[in-house]
Order: sequence, then structure tokens, then C-alpha cells
Amino acid sequence: MTMASITGGSYPPALANDQERERLALAIKDWSIANGLAVRPPPAVVGPQGDPRGIFAVNAPVTLFPSPFPRSCFQEAKAIQTAYNELYASISQDADFLEGLVQEVAGGDDFIANLWDVHLRVKGEGYVQSLDLGLFRSDYMVHQDGEALQIKQVEFNTIASSFGGLSAQTSKLHQYLAQTEYPLLQAAGPHASGLDLPANHSAKGLAAGLADAFTAYGPSTLGHPTCVLFLVQDGERNVFDQRRLEYELQSTHGIPVFRLPFSEVLARTSIAPSSPARQLLYSLPSSPARVFEAAVVYLRAGYGPGDYPTPSAWEARHQIERSGAIACPSVLTQLAGMKKVQQVLATPEPSGGVPTALRRFVPSETKAAGLLRTFTNIFPMDDTTPAGQAARKMATDPEACKKYVMKPQREGGGNNFYRTAIPAHLASIPEAHWGSFILMELITPPPLENIILRNGALEQGGVICELGVYGTCLWDRKTKAVLHNEESGYLLRTKGDQSEEGGVAAGYGCMDSCSLV
Ligand code: ADP
Ligand code: MG
Ligand code: MG
Repeated sequence: MTMASITGGSYPPALANDQERERLALAIKDWSIANGLAVRPPPAVVGPQGDPRGIFAVNAPVTLFPSPFPRSCFQEAKAIQTAYNELYASISQDADFLEGLVQEVAGGDDFIANLWDVHLRVKGEGYVQSLDLGLFRSDYMVHQDGEALQIKQVEFNTIASSFGGLSAQTSKLHQYLAQTEYPLLQAAGPHASGLDLPANHSAKGLAAGLADAFTAYGPSTLGHPTCVLFLVQDGERNVFDQRRLEYELQSTHGIPVFRLPFSEVLARTSIAPSSPARQLLYSLPSSPARVFEAAVVYLRAGYGPGDYPTPSAWEARHQIERSGAIACPSVLTQLAGMKKVQQVLATPEPSGGVPTALRRFVPSETKAAGLLRTFTNIFPMDDTTPAGQAARKMATDPEACKKYVMKPQREGGGNNFYRTAIPAHLASIPEAHWGSFILMELITPPPLENIILRNGALEQGGVICELGVYGTCLWDRKTKAVLHNEESGYLLRTKGDQSEEGGVAAGYGCMDSCSLV
């Protein structure tokens, strides 16, 4: 079975003429702005004048048609999410395990070393908040092995897992087009009536996770109103994605939400003086006497070195971590999302069999087998283990390297080295630092076609799809209880098959939704 045989080999439908093309593009452009499927404009689009009044929004790049996605793969990815949530909640609570991995990568990676320092400082004086919230996203591509199609995990995100807001809207856009526009196409065929477009509650699901943490925090013992703080980057373009979660929290759950640039944490927040619970207080810039107590701090910033240009940025992160607010994520939960963790979970013992780390965190054999099915081959790059030595050979071989991607411990897209760029990069850094990378087999999904609307222009051609499944999980480090564990909707991102990276925010990919086949 191939994807082409699943779709009948005629996807997407050929557009008959320019009028048809323009009509569909116009429907998408208008619906997107009317429904917030939008981003702030990139400098190249807005022109030399910029947007001094902050009033411009442009369409998020999106596919004209939902991409076909194998139903069994979609169902498997959704069904395994709560097991992934539990797994990462457990890893985050095992500081000794994480410390070992941090030590393996920190020599070549100051960022990870600095994060670990923040944890150690807070551990030294004692954590006051035992609740931990994860808004996760597990990313997959479909791997084709002979006739069989199987999801393989690209990575597991534990910080700033984005696009839950826009993704729910993209599903609605394609549902709208299926009702209105696709049936009018000359080549409509099965695409007019036969599409199976699954519901997608990603925005509501992520907001529900934040709301549950807010409730678990309880009322302020200092008599302040409580709130959720969104820590954001300066100049963030993906604001409407974040806003949709805010609106859910405010309108559906009645929770006050404030956006706070990461660069202003120390200016706008403080720890309640001489209070053992170390409440995190936020004062409104417009009237500093109005003070809110942050129940939850949701980080949409702080995931990469760029957010820490000065030592004071690390003090800001330390202030969040030592406070009584529930951090989403805590430093340990962020570190659980290291690619190194994913590698250790996936690398079998030299004798074969289930990786020790996976067995350590997932005692249930059924659950471990389910997770294992979603792993692809990932190698360490140290020079002490047989797996690491084998990886170093492959990574430096001009032929063997073509099957791999090499990843540092970074998030946000644009950090990886692909195929023949691997040996070139390794040659440029000290061998002692190679261990801070992992080497991963490239997943090659079945070929598909689609049409992308980006900056008002249509691009047609071969595409590669990446499915993300959101998970929300709230746990208590002290009692080990998991208080909330949900699968929370999905994301489909699509990129041209010539592009190696697929991040929408990074400018490589576009929003899409699944048409189950
Ligand atoms: P980041 O945390 O920066 O998003 P990822 O591991 O998701 O890092 O890698 C970025 C992109 O690189 C992915 O979205 C995907 O397009 C591509 N990629 C990563 N790993 C693989 C892989 N094993 N096979 C194919 N493509 C991959
Ligand atoms: Mg990531
Ligand atoms: Mg990614």
C-alpha cells in the first residue's frame, strides 16, 4: 500500500483555470483574516515603512487542501499521547537521570549547562511549588516500510509547543472549504463529498490544561487576585496563535491573563517579601499598585539561547523557577525535552532488547511496546559506547551520512545539520564536543502533492507532512500523583519536499490539516 494508492493518485484535484485558482485563494485569504488564521507580517512583506502602529496582520501560510493522512497512523498517534505524557512527567521527576545526560552534553553546550545551574540553585534553597505542568507536542512523520505505514517520532517538545491556536482554525478552514468551495471545482471528484476531516480541539485542549493548573494552584493566601502569565518574546509574530489560548482562558474559563515579555520579568514581577511560599507577584504596568499573584507562568519564550542575551535574563528564569507559581515548563521538564533524552529512550542495549531507560520509566510492557513502535533509530555521539563510536563513523563518512540528520540540544527550528552537512560541521568543532549532538535516521514519508498559499502566491509541488499531537499533563512531584493527563488535539505542518526544516514560524513550512484516508 502506498499513499498514492490510498488517494487514488490524483490529489490534490487539478485546478481548472485561473478563475478557479483565484476564487479558492480569495476564499482562504478572507476566511483566514476573518477567523484569526494570521500572523504579524514578516519585514519582507511589510516593506521599508514597517508597521509602526502595529496594525498589520497577514495570512498564515496554509495548504489549499487538507493533506491525505493514513487513518491508522493518525489514530495511533492520538492514542499513544497519554502514555507519552506520563513518560515525560516521570522523566521530569528523575533529576538524577537528567543530570547524567546534562553532563554528557553540557561540555559542548553552555545553554544546557546554564539551565541546569538554574535548577541546582533552586534545589539548593528548596522548591516551594511541587506542581508541574506540561503542554507537550509529540511530532511524527509517516514512515513507509514496504507496504506498511508507521508513524515515527521526529521529536517531543516540552516547552513553547506552538500552533495549537492556529491549528484548530486551520482544521475549521478546510472544513469550511469542503462545504463551500471544493464542491464547485470542476475536478471536485471525491474531494467534494468524501473528505473525512477530524475535529481538532487543540486550542481548547491546551487552554484546559492551563486552566486545570490554575485551579489546582488555588486562591491567593495573600488576598491578591490570581492570574496566568504568558511569557513572550519581544517582536513575536505568531501572536494570534498565543492569543487564541488567552481568549479561551479569559472567555471560557474566566481567568485573568497577562502577556509579559521575557525581557521584563525582573521589572514587572517580584517574589512576595518574607513569605515562605514565595508567591510570584505581577504588577500592572499601567497601575503598579494593582498586584496579581501568578498561579501559572506559561513560557512561550526562554527555550533558546537568543532569549538569554544577558546574565539578567538568567536571573529572570531563576526568579520564575524559585517562585511559588506553577511553571509551564519547569527547568527539569524543559530538559526532559532534550533530543538527548529521546535518543537514550530509543537506543537499544548492545545486547538488543528494550532500551533500559524506556523500561525504567515505563514499567508496563504493553505501553513500552506501543512507544517503541514510534521510535526510529537514534544514536549517541560519544566516543565511549559502541553505539556512539558507530555513529561517529557514519557521521563522518561522506556516503553513510546521507541517511542522517544531526541535532544539537535546541528548539525552534533551524538548528540541525542534514546529510553531507554533518561531516562538514563536525570538522569545524572540537571532537570533545561531538557528544552534545545526537544522530538520527531520516524518516522519508511517502510522496504527496499539495498547493501552498504563502504571502499571496500559490506554490504547487511535492510536500512532506509532519503530524504533531498535543498533550497536557499536570503532576505533583511530591505525591507523584498525575492530576490531569489528556490528548489535546493535533497539528499538521507541511513543507516543500526540497526543504529540510519544517517550522512554520521559522518560515519553512505551512499550516495544514488531515484528511483521513
Ligand atoms: P526543532 O526542535 O528545532 O523543531 P526537530 O527535531 O523538530 O527540531 O527538527 C526540525 C525539522 O527537521 C523537523 O520539523 C523536520 O522537518 C526535520 N527533521 C527532524 N528530524 C527528522 C528526521 N528524523 N527525519 C526527517 N526529517 C526530520
Ligand atoms: Mg522542538
Ligand atoms: Mg520540531
